[in-house]
Amino acid sequence: MITERTYLKPATVKQAIDMAIANSSSFRFLAGGTDVLVNKFQGNELSDCLIDITEIAELKKVEASKTHVKIGALVRLDDLKKDKILANYFPTLIAVAHEVASPMLRKTATIGGNVLCENRCSFYNQSEWWREAVGYCLKCEGVLCIATGGKKSCFSKFVSDTAPVLISMGAMLELADVDGVKEVALESIYTGDGIAPRNLSKTALIQNIILPMANEWKSAFRKLRPREAVDFTSLTTAVSVDKSGNVRIVVGGVDPKPVLITGTTKDDKNELIKQAVKKARIVDNDVYSRGYRKEMITVFLNQCFEELA
Ligand SMILES: Cc1cc2nc3c(=O)[nH]c(=O)nc-3n(C[C@H](O)[C@H](O)[C@H](O)COP(=O)(O)OP(=O)(O)OC[C@H]3O[C@@H](n4cnc5c(N)ncnc54)[C@H](O)[C@@H]3O)c2cc1C
Ligand code: SF4
Repeated sequence: MITERTYLKPATVKQAIDMAIANSSSFRFLAGGTDVLVNKFQGNELSDCLIDITEIAELKKVEASKTHVKIGALVRLDDLKKDKILANYFPTLIAVAHEVASPMLRKTATIGGNVLCENRCSFYNQSEWWREAVGYCLKCEGVLCIATGGKKSCFSKFVSDTAPVLISMGAMLELADVDGVKEVALESIYTGDGIAPRNLSKTALIQNIILPMANEWKSAFRKLRPREAVDFTSLTTAVSVDKSGNVRIVVGGVDPKPVLITGTTKDDKNELIKQAVKKARIVDNDVYSRGYRKEMITVFLNQCFEELA
């Protein structure tokens, strides 16, 4: 089912925001479209208007200074590896981007779209007929959560693979909106509510993702999935340690938002891992069982720490 009626193509960020204001009742920004369009075909994305931002040249650059690197929101996942600064200073970001979807999708998918891709659940990412047959759930106009057998909250899982690594390295988002440009910590945009997983203003446009250079983060990640390509994550873990000994652990693919635990290299690693496992709200809404994914958090985080050691 395709429901869009209006298709707009701005050439600048200002035009994009003006178009967003004009269509604020029902629109979506469209970047690579690998998430939005699939959700549209499945009847889970019903916006009347698509604002295709792919012609906005200012969102396609990677710029580095002594203090930070700015990655334009429209930089394609497959193109990250072509930038020398990213390759030298943030190789784990390139490696994790290489684990997203499949080669063809990575040539279209953007990093801005990746950090905003919609939460998923085995009972939601299905055809309209399938969802109707099971009576729908909270995320698609039903009255209860099927995955939890009746809870009144949605635990659809956060599936972006690049966001956990980016958050572990202290990434910021540069957002353009009606009232100007501001920077926010990437982790601050995720709500933990599976129905409305982000708290961004509707008209906010990601211009850049900003990574700090001075911390000299070293990172490791692991991803659990049935096949080595195409499959979304069932669990993504990232651990980063900076030159001052700060440690940031992020777990994705389980809870409705990325789970962040912070500490230092002086802390007991096992205690930090325990905190991450405790904080992750995992339900049975994936191809792997809840119990298995929970156990794998500890396995993967230990592997990440071993790699960094
Ligand atoms: C078969 C398949 C497998 C996949 N596997 C994975 C996987 O393993 N890991 C993974 O992380 N993802 C996966 N994806 C999802 C998706 O391909 C990626 O998340 C991709 O990076 C999304 O980027 P995009 O540019 O296509 O986003 P789009 O689909 O264009 O947009 C996604 C969301 O971001 C918003 N948006 C995009 N850019 C901006 C911006 N600059 N400012 C404000 N809002 C914006 C859109 O409005 C939309 O809400 C998969 C998709 C498919 C179809
Ligand atoms: S977690 Fe529950 S409410 Fe949320 S999408 Fe899955 S079944 Fe629906």
